[in-house]
Amino acid sequence: MSAGRVTAEELVAQALAARQRAYAPYSHYAVGAAVLAADGSVILGCNVENAAYPATICAERVALTSAVAQDKRDLVAIAVATENGGSPCGACRQVMAELGPRMTVYITNAAGDYRTTTVRDLLPDWFTGEDLV
Ligand SMILES: [Zn+2]
Repeated sequence: MSAGRVTAEELVAQALAARQRAYAPYSHYAVGAAVLAADGSVILGCNVENAAYPATICAERVALTSAVAQDKRDLVAIAVATENGGSPCGACRQVMAELGPRMTVYITNAAGDYRTTTVRDLLPDWFTGEDLV
């Protein structure tokens, strides 16, 4: 990883810590996310559920949209933490493609065993703003 001094292991650890803040009273599937910006800053997210289920937002989209709000637009990596190392959902993959298409993606389980992939590999043949011509 090239951004600052944040290692993959450190980013995974931050996602695991963010996971502890998840608000998941319905699914009990806690998720944490940590986005690394090119300036070395890390933006955290956790899933936040709602009794009206569609109002729920995933950890990845919390972190990614928060990064935009903090004026962090050059995103280089994201770590996603779940109990079982589950992969990001389709909606989150689309938002990754929009906001961090070149990101490395670390997907970890609760024990910190992670695998490495990319947004492009998670969402091949993606739809982007370039398609809106
Ligand atoms: Zn999602």
